[in-house]
Amino acid sequence: MRAVQGEGPSAGQRCAFVRLGGCNLSCRWCDTPYTWDWTGVGDSGVAYDPKRELRPMPWTDVLRALLGFEVPLIVVSGGEPLSQQRRLLPLLRALTDAGHKVEIETNGTVVPQDDLVALGVRFNVSPKLSHSGDPQARRIVPDALRAFAAVPGTAFKFVCRTTNDLDEVALLVDRYGTRPVWIMPEGQVPAEVGQHLSALGDEVVARGWNLTTRLHVAVWGDRRGV
Ligand code: SF4
Repeated sequence: MRAVQGEGPSAGQRCAFVRLGGCNLSCRWCDTPYTWDWTGVGDSGVAYDPKRELRPMPWTDVLRALLGFEVPLIVVSGGEPLSQQRRLLPLLRALTDAGHKVEIETNGTVVPQDDLVALGVRFNVSPKLSHSGDPQARRIVPDALRAFAAVPGTAFKFVCRTTNDLDEVALLVDRYGTRPVWIMPEGQVPAEVGQHLSALGDEVVARGWNLTTRLHVAVWGDRRGV
């Protein structure tokens, strides 16, 4: 799909999205439960049907579709795309060979392969905090966080609601070097995003971190496909 990158360092840039199915976490407020929640464990309680939501495609067809959008930036998201990183490699190599910038949105629980890192893609790593409802042992993988922190250009994007969440972020930054920090308000409708953004803004700036909104929510609300 063609859209704009809504979050983080490239917010506002025209891009095309590749959204992959499956996730190794189950965050209760996940905004893309249709990619993984087949049993209704998320806040919405909806059990999505993988037969309706997922569409297998050869990577060459995905490449052709992406090149057809004629946008400079390709964002690979999910679900958790790095669960399929080996199978993603040919597609990502073809995109970078064609001169596209590629960003991968990941929850930071899977160590990136060397040959993926060598492509020069940007990782937007979003480690999950306790309010996600995921057990700590699943959402915080020290080896993976340290590996991402060592990749030049990586951005760490933390979904937060209150200033208490910022203390949890600070602990991760101290322990695993997860910098640079971007704080993003949780919310799937504009009012919710705005409320959390206002609650967080002053303290994020005071801590010397970056702040991002969710631009696609401000423009299109919780519509799918943007
Ligand atoms: S890691 Fe991302 S895709 Fe997976 S459940 Fe959490 S918010 Fe959703």
